[in-house]
Amino acid sequence: MHERSKAFSELRERFADRFTTDVATLVAHAGGKAHHAPANPDAVLFAESTEEVALAVSLCARERIPLVAFGAGTSLEGQLSAQRGGLSIDLSRMDRVLRVSASDLDCTVQAGVTREGLNQALVAEGLFFPIDAGVGATLGGMVATRASGTNAVRYGTMRENVLALTVVLADGRVIKTGGRARKSAAGYDLTRLLVGSEGTLGIITEVTLRLYAIPETSSVAVCGFPCVGDAVDTAIAVVQKGIPIARMELMDRRLVQAVNAYSGLSLAPRDTLVFEFAGSAAAVAEQIEKVETIAAAHGAVGFEWASEIEARERLWAARKDAFFAIVAQRPGGRGWSSDVCVPVSRLSECILHAQAALDTTQVPAAILGHVGDGNFHAVFSVDPARPEEMAEVARINSAIVDKALSVGGTCSGEHGIGTGKIDYLKRECGEQAIDVMLALKRALDPFELMNPGKVFSTSDPR
Ligand SMILES: Cc1cc2nc3c(=O)[nH]c(=O)nc-3n(C[C@H](O)[C@H](O)[C@H](O)COP(=O)(O)OP(=O)(O)OC[C@H]3O[C@@H](n4cnc5c(N)ncnc54)[C@H](O)[C@@H]3O)c2cc1C
Repeated sequence: MHERSKAFSELRERFADRFTTDVATLVAHAGGKAHHAPANPDAVLFAESTEEVALAVSLCARERIPLVAFGAGTSLEGQLSAQRGGLSIDLSRMDRVLRVSASDLDCTVQAGVTREGLNQALVAEGLFFPIDAGVGATLGGMVATRASGTNAVRYGTMRENVLALTVVLADGRVIKTGGRARKSAAGYDLTRLLVGSEGTLGIITEVTLRLYAIPETSSVAVCGFPCVGDAVDTAIAVVQKGIPIARMELMDRRLVQAVNAYSGLSLAPRDTLVFEFAGSAAAVAEQIEKVETIAAAHGAVGFEWASEIEARERLWAARKDAFFAIVAQRPGGRGWSSDVCVPVSRLSECILHAQAALDTTQVPAAILGHVGDGNFHAVFSVDPARPEEMAEVARINSAIVDKALSVGGTCSGEHGIGTGKIDYLKRECGEQAIDVMLALKRALDPFELMNPGKVFSTSDPR
């Protein structure tokens, strides 16, 4: 503690009020948005540059102080709890867009830039960055969790859209990975190693991203189905026919009711797909015709078009708030989200299996999904003070993951492992692969200072 206070004294001297031990600030940095138990860091530093992060990491490395990188705190798998205390390095003030190249369709940003902030900066250039995680998420946090979201069916995930990174390693060294070339066969792919590393291998300070032209035109429609199976089968057929849909999101009827109540919409209470079509006017017209035909063959109740920009934005904002809509179904509830992703051909059976499991509980819950790429969430509104209820939801969640793994899927399509899915990761990858991951972790962070207790259990052999 004496050693730790020495490093903290130096940080306080160097950063003045950007280094704080104020209790409300510690609590605000103790966890994300889901049910996992929070744990306060000992201090928080609001960093503004790569050099500042490197200095703070070096000081902490000297005295073996654990470090947790903090973006916007929207993560859902317990990634931010400071289980061994230490320093939370908040990157949200690193919010500068450093460079935009319209001719190369790329940009470089500081890690604390949000997707919304980036898109505001890009709109005048006719460009946008498509990946949308939780509202307000930072691009550094999105890299760290290998986020995806509603646009991934067309544009891929963070894995496909990150070209290069600047990273502060556990000993304070600064490295650059990748570059601006669209492809490279130069050595190990450290960029991909860092994408999805959840702050356990280094702190990302700058990100170079692919950009896209804003589509000439786009149309959004909501379509109800007699049952969830029909909705999912429609989504599968759209994917299998190779129709380049921009977004295709499932909301089961429970979710539609919750969203109507939470966001003041008046959608028909049915199992529903929300479609976005984007491209040239002719391409959009062609996509719509094909999708309407497929949907009709699966008993679609009819397309409701959101033609005004405001109506579209309202609909997508409500969809993005779906997690909170479910949570709000009971006073004081906390969200618990499963996050499996399966081969699309097995999606229908997995969602029906999950729905049957949800039917067995009184805990408010609903299903939503980025069904175009086989990723869906069963979201529960839980009361963490009720152990029996938590055990029941854990059992249901486990059954959903087991089913996904049995058909070749994954326990996490986009939210990451954190503390919540450590055992599932083991089941999914097997011990040998976990050993390789741990060897990489040891090589880059031998004293386990970078976000300790996440991705791997502290009891895993080192
Ligand atoms: C309502 C809601 C909807 C959501 N929808 C989606 C969705 O559609 N798709 C999706 O993928 N996710 C979604 N999420 C989850 C969440 O938004 C993502 O996990 C997001 O990527 C987290 O970004 P953040 O900036 O909030 O990171 P934080 O929550 O602050 O941190 C997340 C993890 O990344 C690490 N980290 C943060 N910044 C850095 C950095 N610069 N360097 C190294 N490590 C870092 C942290 O240590 C932590 O381990 C949703 C969440 C909510 C609440």
